[in-house]
Amino acid sequence: MRKPKVVVLGAGYGGIMTTVNLQKKLGVSEADITLVNKNDYHYETTWLHEVSAGTLHHDRSRVPVKNLINTSKVNFVQDTVVDVKTEEKRVILENSELEYDYLVVALGYESETFGIKGLKEHAFSIANINSARLIREHIDYVFATYNNEVEKRDELLTIVVGGAGFTGIELVGELANRVPQLCKEFDIPREKVRVICVEAAPTALPGFDPELVEYAVTQLERKGVEFKIGTAIKEATEEGIIVAKDDQVEEIKAATVIWAAGVRGSYLIEKAGFENMRGRVKVDPQLRAPGLDNVFIVGDCSLMINPETERPYPPTAQIAMQQGETCAHNLAVLVRGQGEMQEFKPDLKGTVCSLGHDDAIGVVFGRKLFGSSASFMKKVVDNRALYLQGGAGLVMKKGKFNFF
Ligand code: FAD
Ligand code: NAD
Repeated sequence: MRKPKVVVLGAGYGGIMTTVNLQKKLGVSEADITLVNKNDYHYETTWLHEVSAGTLHHDRSRVPVKNLINTSKVNFVQDTVVDVKTEEKRVILENSELEYDYLVVALGYESETFGIKGLKEHAFSIANINSARLIREHIDYVFATYNNEVEKRDELLTIVVGGAGFTGIELVGELANRVPQLCKEFDIPREKVRVICVEAAPTALPGFDPELVEYAVTQLERKGVEFKIGTAIKEATEEGIIVAKDDQVEEIKAATVIWAAGVRGSYLIEKAGFENMRGRVKVDPQLRAPGLDNVFIVGDCSLMINPETERPYPPTAQIAMQQGETCAHNLAVLVRGQGEMQEFKPDLKGTVCSLGHDDAIGVVFGRKLFGSSASFMKKVVDNRALYLQGGAGLVMKKGKFNFF
């Protein structure tokens, strides 16, 4: 009998967790499992702010896909997905095509610029290893340029971060620690450097615990970060950005602008014709696309409504990883034609937001944490994610143990 073909697209949190769980559940004779990913490595997206700021080498945040999967059970294809034809049960890759019986789409997120003029051309965003490495190299380059010019341009030393959501705050936390190192390396007076975080909402980390937000802002300001709260980025230009607070419009000259103010699902979701909202598909409780019983969507390309708030769950690694486990279970049930599919219910343990490697804030199991205890917890969370993906060996190789 022909074995069913299961194809998983994307080796991020959702895709890897689906694959590593599926390879444990199914025998080689039960299904042909193929994992497709653009790169031959998986990366920890949740560490990319560190790579961008230059506080963590990019090799620490990535691992070869073949080290995570059992290659005798899973066929790995390194290629880029360019389209999905659900009616024909086919995936078009840059260099070949794949047929499937069951598909998992786990292609992650993209930066959402909301059509703001100039952002795509003039701002960086943290999208993957390459874009994070580019930000790090760019900052090094402009700092190195500063003392090479006869007329000193202070804007070379101005870094603007758009958005004080979790990504923006974690990024400025790393930058605050990196700037003194950069100043030393390039002989630059610290007071010449500006790190400015611009947030449109009336507070940083909108919706998060106000006491913890105040702690975070105070700590970051103490390290030299400037906040412009209630201020929206309206445009990015070759020289910097234009912001507005109420009726006041201001230009900030900056050689480095990093947009960290929103994400959406992969453009491929729209291209493939799935019903979607900003690249995210509202999946059924079993994680399937509407009307497509053989297509699962997990991670940032999926959308589920939290019945308590009646708002979508935020796109997080925590949810993507848990979805991967449920998706693997449901796929095994379909492949075998026996058992019960599970409904996905997120088991939210909390949120921890780093403020550099040495400080953090968080709410875990309903308990507020800040300072060294939150920072410790953040490393526990990071190491736990590694453990779920690649076991104790991966934790030993890539884990974070600089607890104090
Ligand atoms: P991803 O992990 O982004 O993986 C997508 C994969 O698909 C990648 O491997 C990519 O290479 C591959 N891919 C994409 N397009 C193609 C293509 N066309 N062809 C082939 N392969 C492709 N969440 C938390 O819960 N906790 C945190 O602390 C946290 N910190 C974060 C920090 C930062 C800086 C950022 C940016 C996000 C953070 N998040 C955090 C959110 C979290 O990273 C995402 O929700 C999570 O990565 C989503 O997982 P995913 O599997 O959907 O996508
Ligand atoms: P976000 O949407 O959560 O935050 C974006 C922020 O940018 C918001 O505060 C918004 O008000 C602001 N903004 C939007 N338009 C703006 C403009 N024109 N000018 C200035 N500010 C503007 O996006 P994110 O921070 O990238 O987070 C994406 C997802 O990743 C979220 O689900 C988040 O929970 C998750 N994440 C989690 C962690 C963590 O748990 N430690 C860390 C990073 C990201």
